[in-house]
Amino acid sequence: MPESGERRMIVRARVVATMDGAPIENGAVAISADRIVDVGKFPEVSARYSGQAIIDLGEQVLLPGLINAHCHLDYTCLRGRIPRQKSFSDWIRAINAEKSKLSPQNYIASIKEGFAEAKKFGTTTIANLTAFPELIRQLPGPPIRTWWFAELIDVRSPTRTNELVDSAIESSKPAQNYGFAPHALFTASKNLYQRCEEAGNDVLLTTHLAESREEMEMFRDGSGPLYEFMKSLGRPMDDCGNQTPLELFLGAPGGRALSKRWIIAHLNELTESDFDLLEKMKAKFHVVHSPRSHDFFGHSSFQSERLRRLGLNICLGTDSLASNESLSLFAEMRAFQRGEPEISPEKVFEMVTVNPASALRQQNTLGRIRPGFRADLIGIPSRQGRDLFGEIVAFDGEVDWITVNGRTQSIQSPAADSV
Ligand SMILES: [Zn+2]
Repeated sequence: MPESGERRMIVRARVVATMDGAPIENGAVAISADRIVDVGKFPEVSARYSGQAIIDLGEQVLLPGLINAHCHLDYTCLRGRIPRQKSFSDWIRAINAEKSKLSPQNYIASIKEGFAEAKKFGTTTIANLTAFPELIRQLPGPPIRTWWFAELIDVRSPTRTNELVDSAIESSKPAQNYGFAPHALFTASKNLYQRCEEAGNDVLLTTHLAESREEMEMFRDGSGPLYEFMKSLGRPMDDCGNQTPLELFLGAPGGRALSKRWIIAHLNELTESDFDLLEKMKAKFHVVHSPRSHDFFGHSSFQSERLRRLGLNICLGTDSLASNESLSLFAEMRAFQRGEPEISPEKVFEMVTVNPASALRQQNTLGRIRPGFRADLIGIPSRQGRDLFGEIVAFDGEVDWITVNGRTQSIQSPAADSV
């Protein structure tokens, strides 16, 4: 998008929660083009930047825009279409049946609808996995900051892995930010993982790991519904029956245990020996938990505190609407809190701001309100409550005000602007 040196403003709010020190009462943020240039008390900021347009949000709290660390906008149109199934494998069969009815136009509409919904709920950055990277060039510039992860599966076409990766690299080029997502150990071959890792150190990587009991059963025990399903597709099953999914993932050649590049979705199913492995790991990867999707499937409980104490960076994501009801990270934070009431609302809020910024290697540009950072901000109503972060997490409406890359955007018209 074009940057304009002319675009300057001061945004005032009753309180500014910077995630960079204590919240500032009667606070203000000065913005120039796409950057935050000043943060402080309103009288001081307005004196330093006198003459600039002032937007007064009134009785609101100004926040860094939220960051969704894991979702699949491809499937926005599948909301409510797939009921809970008896097994995870049955759910995969059900979503495959629904997907077979969709055309590229349906997916494009679904992705656009997803962007609009995410934005409505205050998401300004999204890590979006797409099974159709070839559609990226057909879409208008996304209205929020987007990392496109090409989601790759070669279980049905193991001889075409190299071709698949080459074509994903080509298709992803029009995206400003992109990475690769070999889908999961049961659908993506070792070669596919390796090819994605070879795409360059700057390329972010994400995958689904240790999500379901059936995945654990398949790899550790060499049995169960997912084992049978994958075997029926002709998948070579010689990596099953010995190791847990985490052991298999970390045991790959190339020192995956030493890499901080991976953003791991799920990590629900871990054995005690898996926790020992995580403790010994030198570089800790990033983990995305999707509380409502997790509850939909009834996975084993996510051990967030234990993982956090081991040094893993815990983020939240919505996952897709094929297993969730909305793209609201506020609802995700509340669902997380229901399971972990002892974790402070401020720590939970970090899981949708500071933590995912770090997972996307944007810890110096996103997730906080700090001079030099990108001007991605949202405003939500705030009464003078003492528990500011409790109030933030409890917010269940649509955001009143949003600016992405320094551009204030209309919530109603998703295509009005792009990043
Ligand atoms: Zn996912």
